[in-house]
Amino acid sequence: MKKQIDSLVKLQEMDRSLDRLRWQIAQGPERLRGLEEEAHTLEEEIEADKRRIQDLKKTQRQYEADIEDDIAHIRKSRGRLMSIKNNREYRALLKEIEEAEKGTADTEDKLLGCLEELEELNEELETKEKALVALGERLESEETATAIELARVQEELSDIETCKKELIETIDSKLLEKYERIKAASGGIAVALVDNATCSECHMGIPPQMYNELQRQDTLEFCPNCQRIIYWKRTEAAA
Ligand SMILES: [Zn+2]
Repeated sequence: MKKQIDSLVKLQEMDRSLDRLRWQIAQGPERLRGLEEEAHTLEEEIEADKRRIQDLKKTQRQYEADIEDDIAHIRKSRGRLMSIKNNREYRALLKEIEEAEKGTADTEDKLLGCLEELEELNEELETKEKALVALGERLESEETATAIELARVQEELSDIETCKKELIETIDSKLLEKYERIKAASGGIAVALVDNATCSECHMGIPPQMYNELQRQDTLEFCPNCQRIIYWKRTEAAA
């Protein structure tokens, strides 16, 4: 029985290594996906900035055209002033020119605001584009590193799987079934070491009679609390 239990302990170590390696394999692409998502978000932001810049440029051109028209119109009105003899008409036109000049000043303010926003956006765009390039480089090196790591982990995994197959051949099939059943029911741990008459998994005490049996190592014992297969190991202090 001792040999069988030793094999189960080894099997459990292998199973835990396999779980850890499978987790590592799943984790690699996860990290890459995070970076890809980051790049995607940045790309979308860049596209939105570019659209906004296009809109602002259109608005800028519109303001510039308006100002040009206004100036031409004002110049024409000033020309007409010379030919007006009627005082009332003269004043009316003068007032109209004043209003037009005020309107032009407003448009010029708006144009200035538009140009400022354009400058800010262009700077932001440049920063984001640089960040995207850096992110792309990082993604590429991460992909290479992940591929190398994945190959290493997969090799380790298949080595352990080969050892596991060999080990399973040496274990009684009924015992193996029990092991698998307890493992599935107990969070992946089917075999627990008993140290100082205490189960190392659930930390409950083992009754003295059972503890004596366990130390004889010729029967299969189960933890009365967590139902795992328990085993005892002669420690150096005890030896
Ligand atoms: Zn227990």
